[in-house]
Amino acid sequence: MLDILKERFGYDSFRIGQREIIEDVLNGQNCVAMLPTGGGKSLCYQLPGYMLDGSVLIISPLVSLMEDQVQQLRNRGEKRVVALNRFLSYREKKDVLRELASYRFIYASPEVLQSPLLIEALTRINISLFVVDEAHCISQWGHDFRPDFLKLGLLRETLGNPPCLALTATATRQVIDDIVTTLRLDHVKQHVYPLDRTNICLCVQYVRTLEEKITMLKHLVAILPKPGIVYVASRQWAETLSEVLREDHRVSYYHGGMDGEQRLLIQQQFVYDQLDVICCTNAFGMGIDKPNVRFVIHFHLPTQPEAYWQEVGRAGRDGNESIAILLYAPGDEQVGQTIIDMEFPTMEQIVYALHALRHGQKETGLTDVQQRLLLYWLEQMDKQEHIHTLAKQLYARMEQRKKEKLTKWIFMQRWVTGHTCRRRSLLSYFEQQPLKNERCCDQCGAHIHTDATIERIQQIQLRSWHEELCSMFAIKVGNK
Ligand code: ADP
Ligand code: MG
Repeated sequence: MLDILKERFGYDSFRIGQREIIEDVLNGQNCVAMLPTGGGKSLCYQLPGYMLDGSVLIISPLVSLMEDQVQQLRNRGEKRVVALNRFLSYREKKDVLRELASYRFIYASPEVLQSPLLIEALTRINISLFVVDEAHCISQWGHDFRPDFLKLGLLRETLGNPPCLALTATATRQVIDDIVTTLRLDHVKQHVYPLDRTNICLCVQYVRTLEEKITMLKHLVAILPKPGIVYVASRQWAETLSEVLREDHRVSYYHGGMDGEQRLLIQQQFVYDQLDVICCTNAFGMGIDKPNVRFVIHFHLPTQPEAYWQEVGRAGRDGNESIAILLYAPGDEQVGQTIIDMEFPTMEQIVYALHALRHGQKETGLTDVQQRLLLYWLEQMDKQEHIHTLAKQLYARMEQRKKEKLTKWIFMQRWVTGHTCRRRSLLSYFEQQPLKNERCCDQCGAHIHTDATIERIQQIQLRSWHEELCSMFAIKVGNK
């Protein structure tokens, strides 16, 4: 194992958990593994790929993510790797299918795995390992539910139950249980490792108004080492803040409303250090392996601890000191409440959507997520029922889901306004303990203005901006 680690990947040692997971994988065990973002989950199937006979099938939720990983493997000299997604032309697909057994790594999106032709081709080859990346997408309680993932259990059976490795960076107990059930994993080994990322300092910065928040953002982006990510709650904000910061920095925005090509371009520019800052919604970042992100700023309070932790985790994948700053102004609670309210359709909207579906219309008036959920639930119901009966049942389920969401939102509000260690309280959500207590968080004495990261890089400016800031806001900064 160590030889391959060195020869193929150029690393001298394993990171926490990797060896244990890989050993189980090589022994043909079904595994669910939770390692923090940037913890090195890919290696847990890539290394076995060189030791097992046959092909490793990797199911991955995002096309951009897949392309990224394929590129990385190719850069390491691996030729026997392919990505099956909707961008493949008919001809290409046909060629790939004919040669399927010759690939060591086969990446596939859950959507293409619906294709009977592909499934048939997969049954004819030897799949030594069935990998589900970002496996929390399986759970309807997870923060990023993809109904496509639900069919993977059946697919695995069709392929003759190859050993399975499910990977995630953020899952509660409930979500892990869901992963195990949905993938129909028996005798499963669970590898749950600490989610704490000790090189990331967690800070909440209170401001009084929105204007102050924008000023603070400009200030922080000016002084913090880059590159960095600014997360916002809406597409509009992503564009607005990108405009605000553009004067002084190489900035762009990224959100789900842009077309795929544009998104890919921005993502690439960021990954290759052609941009210093990216202002984005939660659409950005999953699986992007950019090692040197130095800061993650949240302009709005995320509505779920899972999402927050995953976004924070995009900082400092290289293990170097990084900082996560959440900007909070009184009244920000409203934003989250609005987001959650908008996420759920009213009874009228559900009835309308059901009518539309019955008449074979594509336009249901629902958002993507709403529609995905609705269709998923509808599959479990008796479709012959009267529309109003169905609507009632669906509405009840939506309400239940909303309740769960609100619980998470309340957790985040308590967290941001609380006075206990940020790390400890956040990790308690995942039933975990923090690993570190030095430069931990604002509650433990760390401060964005005395942060070691900035100090080191911005030593000269330290005093001046500190004073400037104090006068700017007429507040005492730093001697808290
Ligand atoms: P994630 O757990 O988020 O999927 P990745 O698998 O993308 O993380 O790995 C994050 C980074 O860590 C990658 O750049 C990868 O090359 C690097 N990495 C993985 N394992 C090791 C190791 N044993 N030693 C050093 N770097 C590693
Ligand atoms: Mg990954």
